[in-house]
Amino acid sequence: MADYDTDLFVIGGGSGGVRAARIAAGYGARVMLAEEYRVGGTCVIRGCVPKKLLVYASRFGSEFEKARGYGWTSGQPAFDWATLIANKDVEIARLEAAYTANLTRANVTILKTRAVIEDSHTVRLLAGDRRIRAKHILIATGAWPGMGTGIAGIEHVISSNEAFHLTELPKRVLVQGGGYIAVEFACIFAGLGSDVTLVYRGENILRGFDDDVRAHLRAEMERRGIKVICKRIVEAVEQVDHGLCVELSDHDDIIVDTVMFATGRRPNIAGLGLEAAGVRLNDKGAVEVDAYSRTSVPHIYAVGDVTDRLALTPVAIREGHALADTVFGGKPTAVDHAYVPTAVFSEPEVGVIGLTETQARERFHRVDIYKTTFRPMKTAFLGSEARMLMKLIVDGASDRVVGCHIVGPDAAEIIQALGVAVKMGATKADFDATMAVHPTVGEEFVTMRTMTASHVREAAG
Ligand code: NDP
Repeated sequence: MADYDTDLFVIGGGSGGVRAARIAAGYGARVMLAEEYRVGGTCVIRGCVPKKLLVYASRFGSEFEKARGYGWTSGQPAFDWATLIANKDVEIARLEAAYTANLTRANVTILKTRAVIEDSHTVRLLAGDRRIRAKHILIATGAWPGMGTGIAGIEHVISSNEAFHLTELPKRVLVQGGGYIAVEFACIFAGLGSDVTLVYRGENILRGFDDDVRAHLRAEMERRGIKVICKRIVEAVEQVDHGLCVELSDHDDIIVDTVMFATGRRPNIAGLGLEAAGVRLNDKGAVEVDAYSRTSVPHIYAVGDVTDRLALTPVAIREGHALADTVFGGKPTAVDHAYVPTAVFSEPEVGVIGLTETQARERFHRVDIYKTTFRPMKTAFLGSEARMLMKLIVDGASDRVVGCHIVGPDAAEIIQALGVAVKMGATKADFDATMAVHPTVGEEFVTMRTMTASHVREAAG
């Protein structure tokens, strides 16, 4: 032990690294954590948290509208982007301070520097050019926006990182991408009053989600005025007098004020010294790990987005915790990545857990589908055409609910609670036996009596 300056050296002060550091320190380990930017990482500083604040802001516009139908009158609402961004920054600074204080209270030494791995027990700190001998090293450096291979005019394009610091709300925005970030930001900008175009290279947005979810969300986004252009990519961006001219692959030009790419995030490994240390990467360019987050080099581990297992904050936290339990707590713990609930904070929201219909039909002999769309009470009586989608996917043999999909208000909150039941293996009969809470939108999940489709897999050959 005396050979080492620390028992655990964590590189990266985001969700996974911070959790691993605190839990390891709680087991009595001496822990150092290096963070070159701000403690809190993507989620707190430039991801989930500031994004959700922007989402909240973006929904007030339609709430003011609805309020009129409920008898409220008030002056003409006006929105000020600068106020939102300033208030958001205050909140992020508060959270960063809280993260820092929690680490310090847990006896974790925070080093505000970039750290580079030299070998399985040595880390070099760039600030002060100091070397630390560590018994164990954890790579928790997250991911970084990928901007593609470099189109003409890429210097005019922002990522979500910059979107949080725009000096003004753009009147016209083009977002490229069809994943979580593209969809969420398209909805944020549209909700705040921007004219939004979403350009996606594939057939339909949210690849990997259930096809009904994808179609329903797209229709709802379009109903709210977002222009969704599929099967196109951005080929060039040029600064012109009155904005940015975006050239699409069909040679159509669109003039906007801001172009944002949300074309995926890449594991943040550049210059970390992984190659020299012999840490193997997988075919996605992420750090290769086993079920216990061990890399190919003994004593070096990795958790969170840098491993590209499931790039979600709660997953990184769970992986960090499990790593500390395994290495310092005497409780070898592998994280279960099956049946992870997730939400897209679009407008309307998406909440899902488990399999899509396509996945279920590949896996099970008979798959029963229960699906409903309806106009939620809160807005239906105002004459709104907005519809909510709820879908249950059931393994016909066991009656287990293997997929649950929602598009509509409070989808994230509903799926979090419903996720417990689905994770536990609840059957459709369990859903049916649960009493409804009336009147709610969630009650639809326990009152869907009529199967809308049943698919039996054809015998092979
Ligand atoms: P995603 O992987 O979700 O989406 C990337 C999108 O960009 C896809 O639609 C992809 O198309 C498209 N794309 C990729 N490369 C190119 C290219 N060269 N040209 C044009 N389009 C391209 O990544 P995001 O950046 O949206 O988010 C990263 C991760 O962060 C997510 O996977 C998610 O795990 C996490 N996240 C979670 C959130 C949440 O929980 N609410 C919120 C935000 C992020 P294709 O589909 O064809 O591959």
